[in-house]
Amino acid sequence: MKNLVYFSLLLAFVFVVSCKNEVKKEEVVKQETTQEQNSDYLINAVLWVQSSAEYRACCYQAFNYAKIALGNNLKAAKKDKPAAVVFDLDETLLDNSYYEVYLIENKMSYTPESWKEWSEKECATAIPGAVEFVNYVSSLGVEVVYISNRLESEKEVTIRNMKKLGFPDVKDENLYFMNESKGSNKVERRNAVGEKYNIVLLVGDNLADFSGEYEKRGEDLGIGNVDNDKDLFGFYYVILPNPMYGKWESSLPKDKELSTIENKKKALIGYDKVCK
Ligand SMILES: [Mg+2]
Repeated sequence: MKNLVYFSLLLAFVFVVSCKNEVKKEEVVKQETTQEQNSDYLINAVLWVQSSAEYRACCYQAFNYAKIALGNNLKAAKKDKPAAVVFDLDETLLDNSYYEVYLIENKMSYTPESWKEWSEKECATAIPGAVEFVNYVSSLGVEVVYISNRLESEKEVTIRNMKKLGFPDVKDENLYFMNESKGSNKVERRNAVGEKYNIVLLVGDNLADFSGEYEKRGEDLGIGNVDNDKDLFGFYYVILPNPMYGKWESSLPKDKELSTIENKKKALIGYDKVCK
């Protein structure tokens, strides 16, 4: 009788353990599927950047506008301080779409470690039209300032990468990188640049490259602020297209119960919302 009790207990234990393992396996499969879906949504965005002639045309358009705007703004600028143009780096001057491919192929999301591994390869390429425009700015005697959310520890590799591509004025005092303890907000760094120079133009791929008002998007995702600032775009702010990532994406509403891809699908606006 005693043996029968032990045997039953053992069977029950084996059953519970195997059920737990099954649940764990299911959880892993679910996580992998979700991660794959999260990466899959990136494919079209990366393909557009890497393989559509339209993307290149958008970049040329941005830098052509920048040239006209710069000419006009220099004429109107106060002469009390030297003039400067402020550039963001990633997806404004440097193309990191190859890193996004790595994320897709490895079913991964961004991690600081994988980004570091990429940036240390020093093989980001230049955004179409970027090298020519930045050199044009420098040739006018206008200061070229780079404000980037790359970490200060990435400065050396970035300088080498940018020099190889032919960007001018790539020197420590013109590079304002992110101090980890201060975070990604660029307002303080822009203000520091503004103390020394009259900023005559800002070029970026993220609205937060232009103004602190875009740091927190709020419920309308920053759309109201962009509408208010519409006369600045193409005149004082020049924006490059980046469909792969950005604050626009992290500002979308999130339901903790849903996966990233489910939240993204939920944020889509279907015709049921517009055809009233
Ligand atoms: Mg950027």
